Amino acid sequence: MITTELSNIGNIIQNQREFFKSGKTKDVTFRIEQLKNLRQAIIEHEESIVEALKADLHKPTVESYLTEIGVIKEIDYAIKHLKTWTKPKKAPVSFDFFSYSARIYPEPLGVVLIIGPWNYPFQLIISPLVGAIAAGNCAILKPSEIASHTSDVIAKIIAKHFDPAYIAVVEGGVEASQKLLAEKFDHIFFTGGTAVGKIVMVAAAKYLTPVTLELGGKSPCIVDSDINLEHTVRRITWGKFINAGQTCIAPDYLLVNKTIKKDLINGLEKCLKEFYSDNPVNSPDYARIISQKHFERLVNFLKDGEVIIGGENQPSERYLAPTVIDNVSLEDSVMQEEIFGPILPIIEYTDIAEAITLINSRPKPLALYLFSQNKNLQKRVLQETSSGGVCINDTVMQVGVSSLPFGGVGDSGIGNYHGKASFDTFSHNKSVLQNSFWLDLKWRYAPYEGKLPIIKKFLG
Ligand code: NAD
Repeated sequence: MITTELSNIGNIIQNQREFFKSGKTKDVTFRIEQLKNLRQAIIEHEESIVEALKADLHKPTVESYLTEIGVIKEIDYAIKHLKTWTKPKKAPVSFDFFSYSARIYPEPLGVVLIIGPWNYPFQLIISPLVGAIAAGNCAILKPSEIASHTSDVIAKIIAKHFDPAYIAVVEGGVEASQKLLAEKFDHIFFTGGTAVGKIVMVAAAKYLTPVTLELGGKSPCIVDSDINLEHTVRRITWGKFINAGQTCIAPDYLLVNKTIKKDLINGLEKCLKEFYSDNPVNSPDYARIISQKHFERLVNFLKDGEVIIGGENQPSERYLAPTVIDNVSLEDSVMQEEIFGPILPIIEYTDIAEAITLINSRPKPLALYLFSQNKNLQKRVLQETSSGGVCINDTVMQVGVSSLPFGGVGDSGIGNYHGKASFDTFSHNKSVLQNSFWLDLKWRYAPYEGKLPIIKKFLG
């Protein structure tokens, strides 16, 4: 384990400030080289990454490639587009500014801090790092101590492939995080729970540091009756139970049209058997709960409503079977807190208005899912609800589209990233206006006498 002395944090930041001042990171060729370096580092260490994720979460190898090492796609996207992103953009000027030209120059912010969670512990540190590098910043990474094996692997990879004066890892838990947050950064990018997000924002306020907060919440999944049932069931089962439900954008609960509820439940039961066999505890494709604390929190939810599928658990293994709960009340804790585990409550509705009212009575979610072929219904749900993102007739896949900004709204977060949005998050758009010397009209200069009619004319 590579441990950074917490007392050394000041030195790391100081060294990064010097490195940034050298101007090296402003060079676009340097940035592309570093993105390629990061790509190569990941490929070289693929096996250790997969092993670490297995040790932390019993993460199936396919899921590790799909959802963690797959961050390589983000790197490739940034490499492909970086020259375009970094080019100053011409901005139009109105007729009264005819002697001027206007441009927008994206410039790096400086030294940024990236704090990650434990559920996709590799990807959720590396993906923001791609944006930080692309935009020309130095970065300090603080992976989650709860996924300790992955934290170690990240520390080793970064130490081996990057100068710590450019990119460094600080490992540790709350103490390390708070030591870092006591320092001044040029941006803080945080992924985690809403409660800690608030702590981060308070710390950032002290230095007026801009923040990106990628938080969680309860993402609803509406299922209308106008669907292809087989596809719907498979897509919900996958999105909910991948990584044993420990996914920030997993469907948290289902809002199901009453007329299709029975078929949907039968379909879910059949699909779960297809995916994970009759006994998911023996399936190599089903993950475990990250810690004893989280396991106990989830088992407590089983007291709510009526378990109609699953519910079996083994504390020693931190195994909780894929579980579906019916007859929950909105006051039950499973409907009050973000579940963040393999438990899927089902709530039925008769009219879509009930589902929309329920969603709107709660904090704005990170994701909203709608299964329906009905165009009017799609339009209505899009118009009448607000969420970080929406995915229609699928789950979780929105996160894989680099051209779509990913982030929350309200309680589910501030700011966004992925693709160009990552570059923008870690850049300052510097507006530059330039005049020329060939003309100098005097209408704005004192003495003002007689100039008001001209000003009024400009104002239209
Ligand atoms: P968390 O908020 O407990 O921890 C996140 C990070 O903050 C960790 O690195 C941790 O060490 C640090 N931390 C914890 N307590 C702290 C404190 N008091 N002061 C300073 N730093 C502290 O989150 P988690 O349990 O790792 O992750 C689960 C949450 O993250 C869920 O709510 C989930 O929805 C959310 N999440 C969101 C996204 C997203 O992209 N929006 C992705 C993954 C997870």
